[in-house]
Amino acid sequence: MDKLTKEQRHRCMSAIKGRNTKPEILVRKFLFSRGFRYRLNHPHLPGHPDLVLRKYRTVIFVNGCFWHGHENCKYFRLPKTNIDFWSNKIKRNKERDKKEQCQLAAMGWHCITIWECQLKPKVRIQTLESLAYTLNHIFLEDRKIKTYELSDTDSTLVAAEPEVTYGRNKQQ
Ligand SMILES: [Zn+2]
Repeated sequence: MDKLTKEQRHRCMSAIKGRNTKPEILVRKFLFSRGFRYRLNHPHLPGHPDLVLRKYRTVIFVNGCFWHGHENCKYFRLPKTNIDFWSNKIKRNKERDKKEQCQLAAMGWHCITIWECQLKPKVRIQTLESLAYTLNHIFLEDRKIKTYELSDTDSTLVAAEPEVTYGRNKQQ
């Protein structure tokens, strides 16, 4: 059986999951060096994202592969004892992550998850470069959508019309 009490286990998990973990600092340092500005652990957003980039309407989670159950990842391996406990625990974490990301998306936030394994020395640069690329892409796309909404309302109406006609024909 698991020898930790509930309280001990809780403290142990918070320590491992704790803020200012190394992978998170890698991401922060990189973004800062590239001129991205962010807030940490926004208290009012679902899931308390690790970084919040308001200008890019983007939140970033830096997730440990074990605690968040990174699928098909060699760093995600269930311990050999208490398998039920751990698999339920990880399953709940995954469900919670999914729910929180849905809520964030519904609020208009882009969600980016960076996995711990993607920050291992061999792949780190590639991961961070593609993060910077994605953020710039999001920024440009958001501006395009805004311009489109302001200047092109007529074609939006036209685009919606065939669907209405289709519905009417179906009823006849
Ligand atoms: Zn992983």
